Amino acid sequence: MRIAVDLDEVLFPFIDNLVKYVNHVRGSSHTPKELSSYYLWETPLFDSKEEVIAVVFDFWNSDFSKNIRPIFGSVKGVDHLHRKNELVVVTSRQSELENITNKWIEKYFSGKFEGVYFGNHLQRDNREERSKGGICLSLGVNAIIEDNANYVNECARLGIKGYLISNPWNVNKKLERNVRRVDSWREIVNVI
Ligand SMILES: [Mg+2]
Repeated sequence: MRIAVDLDEVLFPFIDNLVKYVNHVRGSSHTPKELSSYYLWETPLFDSKEEVIAVVFDFWNSDFSKNIRPIFGSVKGVDHLHRKNELVVVTSRQSELENITNKWIEKYFSGKFEGVYFGNHLQRDNREERSKGGICLSLGVNAIIEDNANYVNECARLGIKGYLISNPWNVNKKLERNVRRVDSWREIVNVI
C-alpha cells in the first residue's frame, strides 16, 4: 500500500514549538490547547492570516526551529509501516522551506520516504498552491495519516482511506466514513 504521511503534528511538533516561540517573543503564556482551529488566524494567538505568515517565517529563522525532535512514537511507527508499505510525505508547507524540511526528514527518517511533496499553502510568494487531495491522487496514494480534518476528509471523498490523529483543533470535526480517528502512533501501527 502507498501511504501519505503528513509532516506537521504527525512527524514534526510544529504547533508546540511555534507556541513556545510566540510566548518567548511576546512574553505571553499561551498553550497549544487554546488552538481550537487549525487555521491559526482563527485562534486567540493571531489577528490575521498575514500575521500568521510573518510569525511562522520568523519562527523558521529563529533558534526555536532548530534541534526539534520528532513526535513521540513517529520514528518507530514510520519504521514499522515502511517494512510493508511505500511511504511519501505530503505536507502543506511552503516549498521555500524545502531545504530545511528535507534535511530534518533525512536526519530522523533517512531512507523511509520515497518523496516529499509540498502543497505550498500560506506562502508569501506567488508559487502554485496544490491541494493535499490533488497531490495524493497524482501519487496513487491509498491512505493518508493526517491531523487536519479538512485535508483528511478531502482525501476520503477521493477514495483515500484516512487516519486522523486527534488534536484540540480536530476533536469536534465531523469525519467522512472512511476516516478513522486515532490517538497515537502506537494506535496507527496497530490499525493499518
Ligand atoms: Mg499536519
